[in-house]
Amino acid sequence: MREVIIPNSIVQQLLTIDANKEQMGVLLPNENKSPIVYDKIMLRYDDHPDNDTCKLNDIVFDEVCFHTHPKVCYDIYKTDRGWPSIYDTKSFLEIDKIRVLLIISIEGIYLLVKKKRETSHLSNGVDTLYKTRFKKVGSDVLTIDKFLTEINEYFGDYARMYLVERKNASQGNFMISFM
Ligand SMILES: [Zn+2]
Repeated sequence: MREVIIPNSIVQQLLTIDANKEQMGVLLPNENKSPIVYDKIMLRYDDHPDNDTCKLNDIVFDEVCFHTHPKVCYDIYKTDRGWPSIYDTKSFLEIDKIRVLLIISIEGIYLLVKKKRETSHLSNGVDTLYKTRFKKVGSDVLTIDKFLTEINEYFGDYARMYLVERKNASQGNFMISFM
């Protein structure tokens, strides 16, 4: 297990990234500190000309990655739930290099953390799960709590997904342990 800290100053910056467009980047570690502190944000600007969001090839590959789900995403998909998209979850599971993914949303920070080395075998089943269980629109909608319970049941021991609500996220450091 690797233990790292994302200090509150970085969390605060993530929470206040420009809310009008989707942005992504990586956090960079200061390996000299123990435990390791991710104390630098590297933003990668992204020009979605077609406003289509969250595609696999948009993800910046590194150990700790993040992207935002700004208000515009909620409007496009007519939803009040900005949880990880099917593409987000699949790329997190498939891309070895990504060990932690933070998704900065209106409701808070979704935190996806790998607990085992190899998780790509879980990716295929994600399509079915999202298409049958996780509709964000229409009458068959899930609460965020139920979504998290179901996705974590599916992840088993291999990974974890959390939502740190905004009011809690702004309170302190993130301490994360991952494989
Ligand atoms: Zn996304």
